[in-house]
Amino acid sequence: MIEQTSTEESVTRTLLKGLTLKELKDFFTAAGEKRFRGDQVFEWIYGHMAQSFDEMSTIPNYLRKKLNLYCELNTLTLVSTEISKRTGTKKYLFKTHDDLIVESVIIPEVKRTTLCISTQVGCPLDCQFCATGLMGYKRNLSSGEILDQFLMASVEYGKNKISNIVYMGMGEPLLNYTNTLKTLQIFAEQKTKDISLRRLTVSTAGIAPKIIELADSGLKVKLALSLHSMFDETRNKIMPINKKYSLAENLEAVRYYAKQTDTRITFEYVMLKDINDRTDDLNALIKLCKSLPCKINVIPFNSISHMAPTGLAHELQPSQKFRVDEFVKTLRDNDIVVMVRYTQGDDIAAACGQLAYKFEKNSKVDA
Ligand code: SF4
Repeated sequence: MIEQTSTEESVTRTLLKGLTLKELKDFFTAAGEKRFRGDQVFEWIYGHMAQSFDEMSTIPNYLRKKLNLYCELNTLTLVSTEISKRTGTKKYLFKTHDDLIVESVIIPEVKRTTLCISTQVGCPLDCQFCATGLMGYKRNLSSGEILDQFLMASVEYGKNKISNIVYMGMGEPLLNYTNTLKTLQIFAEQKTKDISLRRLTVSTAGIAPKIIELADSGLKVKLALSLHSMFDETRNKIMPINKKYSLAENLEAVRYYAKQTDTRITFEYVMLKDINDRTDDLNALIKLCKSLPCKINVIPFNSISHMAPTGLAHELQPSQKFRVDEFVKTLRDNDIVVMVRYTQGDDIAAACGQLAYKFEKNSKVDA
């Protein structure tokens, strides 16, 4: 679907960012222009990461003027950036056309630089360990708004410096399935930039039917499941979506995904004291990991009790360090691949949703 926006002069403009190659070609054909203009503009948007139509030097002047009049290129405005002195993690806050805040994070590591992008403003899923869940849900991001986080962060941070993208920021990507899929298709058909699908990871809290759909899409991206417990009783408490799509359904779906795409599943596991760090939890996790190609990201928890005055989100505590170490060692002793993912950039509130939450709160106070 081609999205349109209205300006203060009531001119309806077509948003070009977020259109697939075919949609762009169709757009130019319908406008009475040569079809190959679609290829050219596609390359300018995603290859050269052009921020304005005036940069598109292979497009004739008359057409650039028309594009400036009737089309819109950028879907977001960069509001601010913040960099962690300790880790180099860099946070980006963007504003949408309807004044909502979107958050992305760049995490530099030794061998790669990962960009974490959002797919929704807020999130409807209410995971109890997550700051974004506390914001509530506003709306899905369009395919252009999802891609613009990558394009604008790339221009600001340095083109070609981002090597990996994780769909792990604000929101549940598989609840914004159509737009998420479209962005993956655009990455797949994009010819001039070197982010391959194998460097993209979609992270889900567990929307089993959509995992199956993604597996059958032919787009072989990596998949991460926010597991956090091997028991429905615990998952129901900390991730209410589990009441709709049970652990068994999700595990069946990720097994199918691994088989269909020939990829290894990543299980995210945030360590919560006395909730999911018991011996029973560990044994069940080992059993799972021995049954399919996978790796585990163990995430030491940063309390969000200061953001949630009551309820389980307020009560959740991080596992003690010795318990995290024991957990990781036992998994590794069982030949399971484990990464420990410390929250990057605590000094800039880099955990999922924290900066946007802080910004929203401050805006409300300032208002
Ligand atoms: S962890 Fe992910 S799915 Fe859960 S509330 Fe946060 S953003 Fe939503």
